[in-house]
Amino acid sequence: MLFSLRPDYSHDPFLDDLVQQLRAYLDGELAEYERAHTVTPESPISRALLEPVWRRSRELGFYGIHLPPELGGRGLTYTQLAALKEEVAAAGRVLGHSVLGEMGGPLRVGDILAGATPHQLERWFLPVVRGERACCFSLTEADAGSDVRSMRTTAVREPDGQGYRLTGHKVFSSAGPVADFAIVIARMDGTEKTYSAFLVDLDSPGCQVLDGATPMSGEHIESDIVLTDCRVPAANLLGAEGDGLLLGLGRVNVNRLLHCPSVLGLTRRALELTLDRARTRTVAGAPLADLQSIQHKLADMATSYYAARAMTYAALAALDTGTVPRLEAFMCKLNVAESAFRILDEAVQIHGKEGLTQGNEVEFLFRKVRMFRVLTGTSEIQKNGIAKLLLRQAG
Ligand SMILES: Cc1cc2nc3c(=O)[nH]c(=O)nc-3n(C[C@H](O)[C@H](O)[C@H](O)COP(=O)(O)OP(=O)(O)OC[C@H]3O[C@@H](n4cnc5c(N)ncnc54)[C@H](O)[C@@H]3O)c2cc1C
Repeated sequence: MLFSLRPDYSHDPFLDDLVQQLRAYLDGELAEYERAHTVTPESPISRALLEPVWRRSRELGFYGIHLPPELGGRGLTYTQLAALKEEVAAAGRVLGHSVLGEMGGPLRVGDILAGATPHQLERWFLPVVRGERACCFSLTEADAGSDVRSMRTTAVREPDGQGYRLTGHKVFSSAGPVADFAIVIARMDGTEKTYSAFLVDLDSPGCQVLDGATPMSGEHIESDIVLTDCRVPAANLLGAEGDGLLLGLGRVNVNRLLHCPSVLGLTRRALELTLDRARTRTVAGAPLADLQSIQHKLADMATSYYAARAMTYAALAALDTGTVPRLEAFMCKLNVAESAFRILDEAVQIHGKEGLTQGNEVEFLFRKVRMFRVLTGTSEIQKNGIAKLLLRQAG
């Protein structure tokens, strides 16, 4: 894989064609839509704002494009999906998250789709694939983040076996403000280690959706989901009782790797903006780019980006052959998040006061990228995973 600020996919004409179409949509129609609605990263994200993007992205074939043709997708490989995700992030569109279906769409559902019953597909997931409904994923609680097993949300089986009663408080459910239902992971009442996954309609009696915390990126995409003796029919159980963490964390395992191209795309965007700044900003009568110290920073940034990208696509290639690269996924998530943070820090440094000014894109990207050292598993948790698998290999 060669280095390029604008990756070339001519070796894969199908992907190349998709990337060209995607770039045209992101830079053209979607950019125009955002301008017309004065969308900024801090804008409230409403259903009314997103639905036209879901619909249009679906018409163009991007929404759920990774899915098999029978579900309306193009059956992309993980590598091809990653390339599209990277392009979306690198385009700098605020609503980019709604083009392939990350914000409450088919990408949020992820591999859980494969384990759904025909009834669950029809009632919940196919409308998501069609861009008619949206979902969020609710695992984290105030006192259960990295240590998800300490969650307090419980599911009590009804005596007649027809359903469950859920009680608990989930936080940081991304896409909650626009979602119709949540995939909620709960502990089975009376057990220490049995967790199950449920489809919970957010308008069910006993379910409240509250404004969530605003993360440092300033985006308003989080909700708290508060469940108070909320009845969930037995048909809403995903998989079997006890599969909850397998489904929840299995989703996180693949997601861990699939988050990487998005972070790489944001990093690439920052690199482009910084190269541009270095060429055009004049200091003491000459462009910043003439200074060797600036050149060295740019060289380090590009090299880190290339290394992180190369390892990510190597792991994705393994995933495409059917191997789940667990060790490599931990390594990629760790290195991509950590190197992106260092690259963004240098991007801000090279931008000087501009990089510290609210409204400047690099300032936003710095805050956005910083979050990835925590999201989808913190860097420390990745290191725990790497060490565990490494020691197992050695033994
Ligand atoms: C913007 C945003 C969006 C999110 N979206 C979702 C979502 O859609 N759905 C969802 O369910 N959750 C979501 N989350 C939650 C996210 O997954 C958690 O924040 C993350 O798992 C870390 O948990 P925590 O924040 O509680 O940190 P804690 O678990 O409190 O960890 C705090 C610190 O201690 C370290 N630490 C903890 N345990 C260990 C250990 N065993 N070894 C070494 N170090 C350790 C951590 O690495 C971290 O540095 C989101 C969070 C944010 C900020």
